[in-house]
Amino acid sequence: MQKVADLHVHTNISDSTFSPEKVVNLAKLEGLDAIAITDHDTCAGITPAIIAAKDMDIEIIPGVELTAEIDDDEIHLLGYFIDWQDDSFTQKLKELCRVREERAKEILRRLSEQGIDLQYEDLLELAGPGMGSVGRLHIANLLYKKGKISCIRDAFTKYIGNDSPAYVKKFKLSPREASDMIKSVGGVSVLAHPKTIDTENKTLKDTVKMLVDEGVQGIEVYHSDHNTRESNELKEIAEEYGLLITGGSDCHGLGKKEVLLGKVKVPYELVEKLRDASGFKHG
Ligand code: AMP
Ligand code: FE
Ligand code: FE
Ligand code: ZN
Repeated sequence: MQKVADLHVHTNISDSTFSPEKVVNLAKLEGLDAIAITDHDTCAGITPAIIAAKDMDIEIIPGVELTAEIDDDEIHLLGYFIDWQDDSFTQKLKELCRVREERAKEILRRLSEQGIDLQYEDLLELAGPGMGSVGRLHIANLLYKKGKISCIRDAFTKYIGNDSPAYVKKFKLSPREASDMIKSVGGVSVLAHPKTIDTENKTLKDTVKMLVDEGVQGIEVYHSDHNTRESNELKEIAEEYGLLITGGSDCHGLGKKEVLLGKVKVPYELVEKLRDASGFKHG
């Protein structure tokens, strides 16, 4: 049978509700042969996933999802086959996570201006201890838990979405900086969920072209939010610019109310192409 992979998976080290161990077990049940752990701005979930996968015949691809900024809007860049234990890279991620904590406090301050008081301690409890990254999905889930909204989507449309009153930007990595950061540890940089980019008066193709000029090497063609037409359109763009193709579920556990793990399965040959393009050392 053809081997398959899900190349976009979060753990509770960032904003999924599932631990790395749970993700690995579930991936196996879903019949996946490989998964990429791609937490936001942290790689602390990778080693626990590799340990959990030992003796389970499932491959863990070391990855990360970084945020970059174009034209005042944010994009996400996935990094694959990174040397996630590199000291300088780890320090940079730590700094990004520290900035996330400051930003979360500012979001809570702005929410209190909207008459919604949430405690930072409650947020940290929900986000989990230690090495991870705190983000808007945690805040959305806290709003839900405290009965301030009736569904997660409302958190974004009413309060913390990109054009909403309590939205606070994270930091300003340019696409070049984010892509260089990934390449500095031997990784391949890939534009995540391109359909979420607010391209304003540019076409998606022009935006992709610009990102390719900034060093981006691949594009996430398959994603839980893409329909067949959209994936076909993205595949054409990938072919036109000679980009690597990836796909993944972007599973956040129960964080988004539906468990998406394995809902997007891509052929393993895409993994091999990614590995070949990376500086990943075999063996
Ligand atoms: P952050 O990195 O803290 O800005 O948070 C980004 C997280 O929020 C990602 O997991 C996104 O998938 C999630 N997110 C962004 N917009 C929405 C939305 N409208 N509905 C649900 N989740 C969203
Ligand atoms: Fe997320
Ligand atoms: Fe993302
Ligand atoms: Zn993601």
